[in-house]
Amino acid sequence: MNTLAAYAANPETTLGRRFKEASSPLRNAFQRDRDRIIHSTAFRRLEYKTQVFVNHEGDLFRTRLTHSLEVAQIARGIARTLNLHEDLTEAIALAHDLGHTPFGHAGQDALNDCMRDYGGFEHNLQSLRVVDKLEQRYAEFDGLNLSFELREGILKHCSLKNAKQLGDVGQRFIDKTNPSLEAQLTNFADEIAYNNHDIDDGLRSGLITIEQLQQVELFNSQLEIVRAKHPKLEQRRLINETVRRMINILVVDLCQTSAQNIAQLNPKNIQDIRQSPYLIAFSAAVTQQNLALKQFLRKNLYHHYKVNRMSAKAMRIIRELFEVFFNDTTLMPPEHQTNAKQDKARAVADYIAGMTDRFAIREHRRLFTVEAEL
Ligand code: MG
Repeated sequence: MNTLAAYAANPETTLGRRFKEASSPLRNAFQRDRDRIIHSTAFRRLEYKTQVFVNHEGDLFRTRLTHSLEVAQIARGIARTLNLHEDLTEAIALAHDLGHTPFGHAGQDALNDCMRDYGGFEHNLQSLRVVDKLEQRYAEFDGLNLSFELREGILKHCSLKNAKQLGDVGQRFIDKTNPSLEAQLTNFADEIAYNNHDIDDGLRSGLITIEQLQQVELFNSQLEIVRAKHPKLEQRRLINETVRRMINILVVDLCQTSAQNIAQLNPKNIQDIRQSPYLIAFSAAVTQQNLALKQFLRKNLYHHYKVNRMSAKAMRIIRELFEVFFNDTTLMPPEHQTNAKQDKARAVADYIAGMTDRFAIREHRRLFTVEAEL
């Protein structure tokens, strides 16, 4: 690791954990956070949760787990370039999607709809709930008891109403301040990862084509460079060469623009970062190109009729599961029944949100098909 910048998050001066623990002789606080995340149940479940394609649709598509690993890889590289804390950055990246429901955004929208009268459901808030409460592995506390900087990084956005109930990590939404640069850059790494791997998965699935993607400047400019250099390249390598160049352009631009922003502000410590506007950013030109790519994917991939069909099925499964458990909590496993005594809707939402795609499908079958196993 390079010398840590004075304004980087620093485990020596962390704002600490919710429950006091002795420090480790071997690992810094953020390394421990990362290790706890990797050992969590919610992290293992990411393997079987949808990113865009439902888990059973193919073995080569990204899942939430491989997505999170790609985010961590990109984020660490950016952190190292900017002399920020790599361990914290990696930990935030690995934890950022822990609260996702099965079936990706369709699942989250359906669950949010079911929870409309009970405080709603938001995956970002749920990720925090997983690490603060739902993981039950330690003798002395619920959750993973992560450092403040990690919890702050997980909570990307939050309504004012929810912020007021969250205490320390909610405060910045009330004060309108910003999180660490490590948290800021991980948001961008998330976006760089999914825009690019969704191109790859979209092409692999056949739902979008190279010809269509040529409308997107960021893609087309790199495709032409690769074609000029390697005119006879077979398709898979052509796609990979193009996508890797796109990632590189985005990462390099982000590092350069952010470094300029930081130099201009000349922050002395992390408090200066929290009080400043967002410093991690793309240049104006790349922001435009990135936006065009996102719009293309939304229109042509995320709303492709075949994706819509799977989303509609997924939403039906989530709605029906919610309804059946809400109307009779004794159909849930005992620990969830106990939680339901305090807050029925939230306990049902926690149970459903924790399911993998295939567990939700099986659970639905067990509850609605007479011939199914129990
Ligand atoms: Mg993500």
